[in-house]
Amino acid sequence: MSAKRYVYSFEKGDGKNKMLLGGKGANLCEMTQIGLNVPSGFTITNDASLAYLAENRLPDGLMEEVRSHIAELERKTGKTFGGAANPLLVSVRSGSAMSMPGMMDTVLNLGLNDKTLGGLVEATKNARFAYDAWRRFIQLFGKIALGVPDESFDHAMAALKRQVGAADDVDLSADQLKQLAATFLGIVREATGKPFPSEPFEQLEIAIGAVFRSWMGKRAVDYRRQFRITPDMANGTAVSIVTMVFGNLGDDSATGVGFTRNPATGENVIYGEYLVNAQGEDVVAGIRTPKPIAELAKEMPELYRQLVELRDKLEAHYHEVQDFEFTIERGRLYCLQTRNGKMNAQAMVRTSVEMTRDNLITREQALTRIHPSTLEQLLVPALAPRHGVTPLAQGLPASPGAASGRIVFDADTAEVSSGKGERVILVREETKPEDIHGFFAAVGILTSRGGKTSHAAVVARGMGKPCVSGCEAIVINVRERVARVGGTLLHEGDTITIDGTTGHVFAGEIPTVEPEFSAELETLLGWADQTARLKVMANADTPHDAVSARRFGAHGIGLCRTERMFNDVGRLPIVQDMILAETTAERQTALDKLLPIQREDFRGIFRAMNGLPVTIRLLDPPIHEFLPTAEQLEYELSHLHHLHRAVINMEELHDTLKMVDPDIAKSNVQQLEKLSEALHQFRDAGREKAQIERKEAMLKKVRQLHEVNPMLGHRGVRLGITYPEIYAMQIRAILEAAAECIKEGVDVHPEIMVPQVATPRELYEVKKIVDEIAPKVEAAFGVKAPYKFGCMMEVVRACLRAVPMASIAEFFSFGTNDLTQATFSFSREDAENKFLAFYLERGIIRDNPFEILDVKGVGRLMEIAMHWGRKARPDLKVGICGEHGGEPEAIRFCHHIGLDYVSCSGPRVPIARLAAARAKLLEKDYGGEIYA
Ligand code: PEP
Ligand code: MG
Repeated sequence: MSAKRYVYSFEKGDGKNKMLLGGKGANLCEMTQIGLNVPSGFTITNDASLAYLAENRLPDGLMEEVRSHIAELERKTGKTFGGAANPLLVSVRSGSAMSMPGMMDTVLNLGLNDKTLGGLVEATKNARFAYDAWRRFIQLFGKIALGVPDESFDHAMAALKRQVGAADDVDLSADQLKQLAATFLGIVREATGKPFPSEPFEQLEIAIGAVFRSWMGKRAVDYRRQFRITPDMANGTAVSIVTMVFGNLGDDSATGVGFTRNPATGENVIYGEYLVNAQGEDVVAGIRTPKPIAELAKEMPELYRQLVELRDKLEAHYHEVQDFEFTIERGRLYCLQTRNGKMNAQAMVRTSVEMTRDNLITREQALTRIHPSTLEQLLVPALAPRHGVTPLAQGLPASPGAASGRIVFDADTAEVSSGKGERVILVREETKPEDIHGFFAAVGILTSRGGKTSHAAVVARGMGKPCVSGCEAIVINVRERVARVGGTLLHEGDTITIDGTTGHVFAGEIPTVEPEFSAELETLLGWADQTARLKVMANADTPHDAVSARRFGAHGIGLCRTERMFNDVGRLPIVQDMILAETTAERQTALDKLLPIQREDFRGIFRAMNGLPVTIRLLDPPIHEFLPTAEQLEYELSHLHHLHRAVINMEELHDTLKMVDPDIAKSNVQQLEKLSEALHQFRDAGREKAQIERKEAMLKKVRQLHEVNPMLGHRGVRLGITYPEIYAMQIRAILEAAAECIKEGVDVHPEIMVPQVATPRELYEVKKIVDEIAPKVEAAFGVKAPYKFGCMMEVVRACLRAVPMASIAEFFSFGTNDLTQATFSFSREDAENKFLAFYLERGIIRDNPFEILDVKGVGRLMEIAMHWGRKARPDLKVGICGEHGGEPEAIRFCHHIGLDYVSCSGPRVPIARLAAARAKLLEKDYGGEIYA
């Protein structure tokens, strides 16, 4: 039986077999075999390392194989291993099946000894370099192969530098390095009790064993544990022995790194840097500034041509942008390494489109090589690269993008300042629905409390504005109009910059770069739309949002939350009148005022979405949200009562003064009488009294409306059933707007959606209202507005009653924000503020279910509801409009179970479009035990 084979030359090894040859070894074999000029070498297999680790000695026959491969290297290179002239030096490199950068050991310049050193000096004509290589080799070999502590060498180096007055290693001369090498040899002898091994094969044998052992080194073991690298992924390390090539053998030598395309822009030109007569370390150490690769065309035209040829070969073979290292040794170009290039989003998009056009990759590959979330970088403003400013504080990255502006501490001030043309950042402890005008006015939002699904985060994301939430380091004092961050005091009007992509907050202004919806991105997303089965819709609440959603490529609106229109400053008082109304007639008066306003909003949205569906959700939140809080009202009332008393007191001021100090009273008689008259007028106008009455009525209402748990209280369809006139107004506004648009020639597809439905009967009650209003609108306008009627699926019971639900509803839209709360019985805010972080840290749950769809629970419920719903109504349209609708993994799941559409905030639409295409292209890989 022939002995097991452990060694493969780069010409013979299987470039695809990373388990046997390690990633690096396989790659060197592959590069060699496709005709790239790789320094000659060979790879010792993973198996050899396992045998070594089992027996604590190199397996039988290994060194014989190594010797014969070294002989082959000598033949190929014309150099001699251990030769005094033209010595062959090698590197001994680790490399397992999985990349574990820097975790295992590598020895360079092996083969150096007193004899070969002379050869190296001769060959390089650079004694300093040769002695530097020699002392480095002794230290590296001493440390890795012989276990001599690094510090012993470092101390000797430091002592020498002190002695000769050298600031840096590079300040040491050839002679000084020679002296250092001699000291190092002494250190090794002392530590090991033996002289430094000078025989190259002995060095090689020891080095191979040491690299094998580094597989079980602490760094490597910890790394595997951290990144869950199991033995079936990588078991042991291969060792590659590679001929050393030097880029510092004169002006016909060089070293550099290259990208086959520009990794910052994607431009199809070779990109990189090089240095003539240098070694890689010079580039890293920043001793000399490298030149752009384009200059090589002038400096070494033939080698530049070869480099371009190398680049073409790399791309043609790997079908991917490559990041490669090269060395030119005496006019000969070597490729030392290549790997897939890491690029920013812009470059990924451009290269995807251009490589497809060049037939290097297919459209499918173009769509799958970019992770959808990478696109986020392209869709929001970002901080200028390399701004170098240290953040003042860190909060949660709640809504991506960066913005600078002046601090304002409340929504009204935000509105006033932005009205004057200022860019403002709304800074609050937390935001509430009544702050909505502040969101419109601000360029960014910063809160000191609340998670990534807090009101501030959700609303900002919906509007595509940057938001940093939960920045606890900021202590805000609204009354004094200051915020303190550690030792820094920020005043209203000071400029800050927030980065909602990272959660950083900075003092002062940092320039930002605007997003660019490039032609390549349009092309790529066009391909995505042609590929995807799922349609991508947007959550958009206003005509303005609808226009921008369409620009992002939305195929309609999947959720229009009508409450946002109610919160507009001009309308809030009317909405409050509606709430404060004591009778149906009073309520109707307020609703009659709201009707034309809502109708106008819907018309704007229908026009923007001409030809596409618009799903409008009837009023959802508990109505107390449109009133100030009891605390706020109590505070305002106490001020108003103070004012009232103060006015009375001031009116009496003249008489009081006469009593106390007649002279002053006399000398100020005119002013005092004037003041008294003005105060009379003020009192007669009764402004403060009217305010007091209105606020007291509000306070009474707020107390009446108080609920222990408003999220599970009087909201959604429950409101619609108890106050049918509210829903009737909204339904009329939708249908009348649709009728008017049809008359204008707009193609409208309204969908009326009922929130928080738990029983089919609730849905039926609302349907009756629609059925009553629709014919009236038709009669009044002379046109029949088409519409669909459906419901949100955000209550567990609704999912379990999907069959009767679907007999009334023409569509279902999963509101996974509420459905997640309901399925877990977690209140989102409380969970995120109190225990979720702990749960995640302890691994009690794997992901935050409000960010990553809980497929096993919420997802399962969705599938059941969809399946049963389609049994009752085969053409039931089903989608998702919770925040998960823009999350790529959730989109994969939605595709898998057969949803018709996903709906997400406008700025996430491009991400969702790409994710929908990927979901289709990768559908075969999805599935199995997804609920297990
Ligand atoms: C939902 O619950 O998922 C939803 C979209 O509604 P909202 O976030 O407005 O409660
Ligand atoms: Mg909801």
